[in-house]
Amino acid sequence: METKLLDGRALAGKIQEQVANELAVMQRVPKLVVVLVDPSEAIRIYVRNKLKRTAAVGIQTTVQELSPTVSTEQVVAIVKELNQDKLVDGILVQLPLPDHINTNTVIETIDPNKDVDGLTSVNLGRLMANMPYLVPCTPLGCLHLIHQAKADLTGLNAVVIGRSRLVGRPMAQLLLAENCTVTIAHSKTRNLAALCRTADILVSATGQPGLITDNYIKPGAIVIDVGISKTKDGHITGDVDMERAKGIAGWLTPVPGGVGPMTITMILTNMVQIIKQNLDNK
Ligand code: NDP
Repeated sequence: METKLLDGRALAGKIQEQVANELAVMQRVPKLVVVLVDPSEAIRIYVRNKLKRTAAVGIQTTVQELSPTVSTEQVVAIVKELNQDKLVDGILVQLPLPDHINTNTVIETIDPNKDVDGLTSVNLGRLMANMPYLVPCTPLGCLHLIHQAKADLTGLNAVVIGRSRLVGRPMAQLLLAENCTVTIAHSKTRNLAALCRTADILVSATGQPGLITDNYIKPGAIVIDVGISKTKDGHITGDVDMERAKGIAGWLTPVPGGVGPMTITMILTNMVQIIKQNLDNK
């Protein structure tokens, strides 16, 4: 069987164009603030990439970089100020935060209507209640990629490996809303390979390079590889063993060039959602 690659870069490019057009029609320059604390070099590059994308579609983005020794209370105070600032439309606290900061406390402080990453419990609750508003960017990007392969997902079996707040849990909710029969797997799941072979849609978000081999894939399945790991020689790789998946999966996302570009692009679409909502509320 021929395996088709789901090109995240190409799809991201198309969606970015749509976002730029929508913002031009609305005649708005939305403002996004990124809060950054003690980033690694990789995160710094990632944020630079986000800034490039937001600028390209006409979103004004500023980075508020805080001292590595900042306390949870100080980050909370800054987020509260941004919540109150009428000129700020979206707030993004770049994760991971240093260990001494309580990440959940910081996330929960973000005004849910400015929560461009969709990570507050209010926005996750909205998703759970099937009233989605701002949806976490990575799973939302995955859903767009899945739709490139198949428009109607009704009745398909989906297996999501990973149960994080950032990826696995919201991904499962999105697929449930698409009428899939969803199973969430994790490190304690028994017979993972056999379970995965039942999946018409397999989303792997573990960060375990090469976990998904031919033995885990139903012939013709849509396989979405969220994982990002670094190989010994410094290359980026996903959870899926590409060579062994090819010829069995019907559709497959490459790493890099699959889910990654879509994650950044979903920040842009969430900003559009916020602006539309703000205009409706006027
Ligand atoms: P977490 O570490 O929070 O979650 C990983 C999940 O995978 C956990 O639920 C864990 O199970 C499960 N898991 C780990 N090993 C196995 C295994 N051998 N078998 C089955 N399940 C396993 O990570 P995130 O959800 O934040 O991210 C997941 C991956 O996606 C990472 O590689 C991350 O870098 C990448 N990522 C990529 C993005 C992109 O834009 N492409 C964006 C965000 C993340 P348990 O809960 O039992 O521990």
